Amino acid sequence: MRAHERFLRYIQFDTASNEARGTCPSTPGQLVLGRTLVREMLDMGIHDARMDEFGYVYGSIPATAEGFPAIGLIAHMDTVDDVPAVPIHVRIVENYDGKMVRLESGDQLDPADFPELARRTGKDLIVTDGNALLGADDKAGIAEILTACERLLASGAPHGKVCVGFTPDEEIGRGTDHFDVAGFGADFAYTVDGDEVGSIEYENFNAASAVVEFHGRSVHPGSAKGKLINAALLAMEFDSLLPAAERPEHTDGYEGFYHLCSVSGETEHARSLYILRDHDRSKFEERKQTMFRAAEAINEKYSPDSAVCRMKDSYYNMREIMEKYPHVLRRAEAAYRATGIEPFATPIRGGTDGARLSFMGLPCPNLATGGMNAHGRFECIAVQDMDAMTEVLYHLLTSRSDA
Ligand SMILES: [Zn+2]
Repeated sequence: MRAHERFLRYIQFDTASNEARGTCPSTPGQLVLGRTLVREMLDMGIHDARMDEFGYVYGSIPATAEGFPAIGLIAHMDTVDDVPAVPIHVRIVENYDGKMVRLESGDQLDPADFPELARRTGKDLIVTDGNALLGADDKAGIAEILTACERLLASGAPHGKVCVGFTPDEEIGRGTDHFDVAGFGADFAYTVDGDEVGSIEYENFNAASAVVEFHGRSVHPGSAKGKLINAALLAMEFDSLLPAAERPEHTDGYEGFYHLCSVSGETEHARSLYILRDHDRSKFEERKQTMFRAAEAINEKYSPDSAVCRMKDSYYNMREIMEKYPHVLRRAEAAYRATGIEPFATPIRGGTDGARLSFMGLPCPNLATGGMNAHGRFECIAVQDMDAMTEVLYHLLTSRSDA
């Protein structure tokens, strides 16, 4: 079976995760897909395929030869809920001509808006009807992993232990909350959750969130002189103490930022929510200090506790872990090259499940799926890119050396 044939089945399942729900998985649709995947894995010969109480799907293929590492392949089952996930009507644009594609909804998938389309010219492009997500993020990853496993089992090629994991709730940041690293049994792993074929992602942001509470003093405005402290204005003053050029809308590449996510309040009390991001760990720590200093400045100017800043680290840049395991990256590069693809590294301006897993003891860079325009109605993926990634994964598992 080819990867896209599997993929076209998986996208019929509504697996949108939902941040508002406290259960794991957050939505029952993920369990339905999980059960289907377990059945498929068992049928394929992955005899220990199972789903645990949290909806995580695991399975492994025993080694057939010595001298190979135990390699994990991981993808997530959920999709974002910002755009409808179903009903999905897809269409395959065969031998794509590189021009504008009109979707059933009347929307246009236009190379002028999405220049990456040019690289899909001559391929068969799977597109949505313009009303729903495609779900290539990350069902394409699941399809490519299982197709590579199927090929491996049929090939008779010598290989090491292969560990497969499909996780729920990645899109709401909970994809590794219950991941069983010890039970998974891999020496290292790869998430298959990126976009452009050839990419190896092993650098992500260091991330923290901050809640700043502002306490004011309400007095009748007619007799407020020298007495009133307006908490809503404290929130604005606090923000003015942060570098205005270091916001998401002004930064890219390796540039970090402060992002004001929300602000609410009135005279007595106000509250601001920020996230801070930086690839560089020391600059990241400096950013946190800048926020604490801004709060201190407010407190000195008004009264102690006018601004109370609480900070929580969310995740760290996996680069510091990956630097200790260069062979994991070399293996991925070699697998791309064996497929005739030149690998490239891009810094992720966000986090990945692989980053969290790396800090949980499982080094885990991220590889491509071939998908593009994730999280929207213009999401698409080329059939041949899915075949190529399947091939890459096959080489990853069967390569004798890490060089
Ligand atoms: Zn994803």
